[in-house]
Amino acid sequence: MDLQPSKILIVDDILHNRIALTKVLEPLNNVEVVEADSGNEALKKLLNNDFSVILLDVNMPGMDGYEVANLISSSQAHKHTPIVMLTAHDSSAPDVLRAYEAGAIDYLTKPIESTILLNKVKQFVKISQLQAKTNYLKSERESILEAAGQGVIKFTSEGDIEFINKKACQMLGSVADKIIGSQFNQWFSHMEIEPDYDNLFMFLRKKVHKLGLYQHQIAKLIDINKKTHLVELTCTSPRSQKNYSMIVLFQDISARLEMESELVHLANYDTLTQLANRACFHDNLARAINRSKRLESTVVLLLLDLDRFKQVNDTLGHDVGDELLQGVAKRLTSMLRETDLAARLGGDEFAILIEDSQSSLDAELLAKKVVSLISKPFLIQDKEICIETSIGLSRSVAGKSDKATLLKWADIALYEAKAVGRNCYQLFVPEMSVQAQKQALIQSQLRQIIEQNLLDVHYQGQFCLKENRFVGFEALVRWPKSNFGEIPISPAQFIPIAEQSHLIHELGYQVLHQACGVLQSWQLSTDTQHLTLAVNLSAKQLNAYDFLDRLEHVLCQFDFPLAKLTFELTETAFLEDSEHVQKCMKTLINMGFSLALDDFGTGYSSLNYLQNLPFDIIKIDRCFIQRLGFCHKTTALVKAIITIADAFDMSVVAEGVENQIQLDCIASLGCNKIQGFYFSKPIPKEEIASLISATNINNKKVLSK
Ligand code: C2E
Ligand code: CA
Ligand code: CA
Repeated sequence: MDLQPSKILIVDDILHNRIALTKVLEPLNNVEVVEADSGNEALKKLLNNDFSVILLDVNMPGMDGYEVANLISSSQAHKHTPIVMLTAHDSSAPDVLRAYEAGAIDYLTKPIESTILLNKVKQFVKISQLQAKTNYLKSERESILEAAGQGVIKFTSEGDIEFINKKACQMLGSVADKIIGSQFNQWFSHMEIEPDYDNLFMFLRKKVHKLGLYQHQIAKLIDINKKTHLVELTCTSPRSQKNYSMIVLFQDISARLEMESELVHLANYDTLTQLANRACFHDNLARAINRSKRLESTVVLLLLDLDRFKQVNDTLGHDVGDELLQGVAKRLTSMLRETDLAARLGGDEFAILIEDSQSSLDAELLAKKVVSLISKPFLIQDKEICIETSIGLSRSVAGKSDKATLLKWADIALYEAKAVGRNCYQLFVPEMSVQAQKQALIQSQLRQIIEQNLLDVHYQGQFCLKENRFVGFEALVRWPKSNFGEIPISPAQFIPIAEQSHLIHELGYQVLHQACGVLQSWQLSTDTQHLTLAVNLSAKQLNAYDFLDRLEHVLCQFDFPLAKLTFELTETAFLEDSEHVQKCMKTLINMGFSLALDDFGTGYSSLNYLQNLPFDIIKIDRCFIQRLGFCHKTTALVKAIITIADAFDMSVVAEGVENQIQLDCIASLGCNKIQGFYFSKPIPKEEIASLISATNINNKKVLSK
C-alpha cells in the first residue's frame, strides 16, 4: 500500500526560523514540509491540504499564534490536526495555558531543542500515517461491500444497527443516518424458524454464536414504505469480537422465488386447466397411499373419461374443446374439499384423489354428483354444449393396494362404466368381468408403450404376379416383445381398444413415422426404389380435425415421392358421410398419395362406394379368399369386383392368400396383386432386403408354381 507523504506545516514570520526548523525535520522519511510566513498564509494553506502536524509560532505580527490555533481548532475540517506551539523562552505558565486553550496539543520553548522537536514531530507523523492507513482500509472495505451487490448490516449485540452499506439502505428505503441505531427486528422478521424463538434476531445470534457462519435463512424484510420483500440472510460474527455483534448479508430473493415457484407450477400443473398434471397426480397418489398405510385410512381414486369429447373437438374446433375442458375442470374443483385433488391426466382424462373417505358410499355419492354435474350443458361461445363422463372408482384401505393396482382397478372400473353405457360410474369390485379387466390392462399397457415410443412395425409384402416381384408392402403395427406381457397382443385386439381411448391418434402417428423412415431408406437402392408402402388409417384418425396438420408435420421430416405412400381406409371412415372426411380424402389424393379401400367385402360394403369415393386400390378381404373355390357365389362376386375395379381403373389386391389353390383361383379371376402368407408374413424392416433378394433368385420357382 503506497501512502501519500505526510505534510507538516511550519508557521513562522521569520524566514531564518523556518529554514532552521525545516533542517531539523530533514531526517524524516516520506514527509513534505510546507511553510507559511503569517497566520493568514497558514489558513490559506489549510484550505487545500491536510497536515499531520502544525508547528505554530506564537509571536507573529498581525494574527498571533493563539488566534491562528483558535481558528484552526474550531474549524470542522481541521479540528483534529495536532498543533504544537512554539513559545518564547520566557513564556509564563499562563501563556502555556493559553496555548492549550487555543487548541494546541503541545508546546516547545525557544530555543528549540532539535532532538525533542524531531521526536515529537516523528510521533505525530506516525499517528497520522496510521490514521491514513486505517482510513484507506476502511474505504477499501466499504467499496468491496458496495460492489458485493448485497445488503450488509452490522448489528450490536443488542440488535442495533451500527453499520449499513448503500445497497442495504436502498433495500430498506432510507438513508444510513436514519437507519443507524434502529433495531434489527424493526426491519426483519421470520418466515419460519424453530418454534423456541419468537424473535429472529435472538435466533440468528444463537446460531451464529454456535456455528460462526449461518446461511440460507429466509426472512421477511419490511421496508420503510411497509412493503415486504423476501430476503435470504447470511449471518456471521466479526472474529476478533468476543461479544455477540453480528454482520448480516442479505439479498432480495422475491424474484428468484417467484421464478422457482413458477417453474414448480409448470412442472406440476396443466397449463390449460390449472389442475395438477399427470406427474403431480402420481406423486400425490403415492404419498396418499403411504399416509393411508400409516394412518390406516382410505384412499379413493376416480378416473374420468369424457364421452364424446373428441367429437366436440373435431366438429367445433379445439378452441371450443379447450374451453370445455376448462369448464369441466372448474366444475370438478367446485365439488372438492381442500384436501381432495383433481388432476388432468391428458386429453379428456381427469382424475380425482380423495383421502380418508369414510366409506365407499361417500365416494360413490361424489362420483354420482360428478356425473350429473358434467352432464349439465356448458355454455361456450354462445353455444350450449353437452357432454357426459364415465367414471371408474377404486379404493384402497390402509394402503393395502399399491399405486399401480389402484390405477389398474380404476381403469377396469372405467372400462366397465363405458361398457355399461357411459354417463355413469362403476366402483371396482373383484368380480368385475374378466374381459373388462383384460381390456383395461391392455389399454393401460398400450398407453405406456405409446408414451415410451416402443411400438414395433412389421411389413407384409404385396406380390405382383405380372411383374413377378414384390411391388409394395403394408405396415402393420406390433405389440413390443419385452416388458409388456409374455404373449404379444395382436393388433386385431388392441387397435379397437386404442380407438376407444383415443390412443389411436398417437399410435397412428408413431406407425406413420416409422413407415416414412422405411420409405425414405428404400429410395437409396434400385432393388427397393419401386416399392410402395401402405399405412392403415383408422376412421377416428381421419375424423380428427387436425389430421392433415399432423400428417404434414410427420411428412416434412422425410424425403420420398408421396405417390409411394398409400393410405388404407376401411369403410367405417366414411359411414357417417362427413364432409370433413370427404375433404380430407380429396386433399390426400391431391397431395399425390394413393388410397386403398381395405377389407372390402366385410360389413356394409357396397359397390356404390367404388363409384363415389376416390380409391385407387381395392383390397379384397381374406374371408372372400378363404371361400374361393368352395362357394360359387363368392367366386362370382369377386369376379364382379375385379371387373368393376378394372372399369374404374383401380387395382385390386387379394388379402390373405395362404396356399397354391387360393392363388391359382384368384389369378384365374384376373387379380394379380397378392398379399398373404403364401408370399410373405409380416416381417421386421431388417428382413425386407433379404426377402426381396430371395424372391429375385427364386423367381423361376414361383413362376413354375
Ligand atoms: P388389415 O389391415 O386387414 O391387415 C391385414 C391383416 O391380415 C394383418 O393382421 C395380417 O397379418 C393378416 N394377414 C395377412 N396375410 C394373411 C394370411 O395369409 N393369413 C392370415 N390368417 N392372416 C393374414 P394383423 O397384423 O394382425 O392386423 C390386424 C388388423 O389390425 C389390420 O387388418 C388392421 O385393421 C389393424 N392394424 C394393423 N396395424 C395397424 C395400424 O398401424 N393402424 C391401424 N389403424 N390399424 C392397424
Ligand atoms: Ca390394411
Ligand atoms: Ca385388410
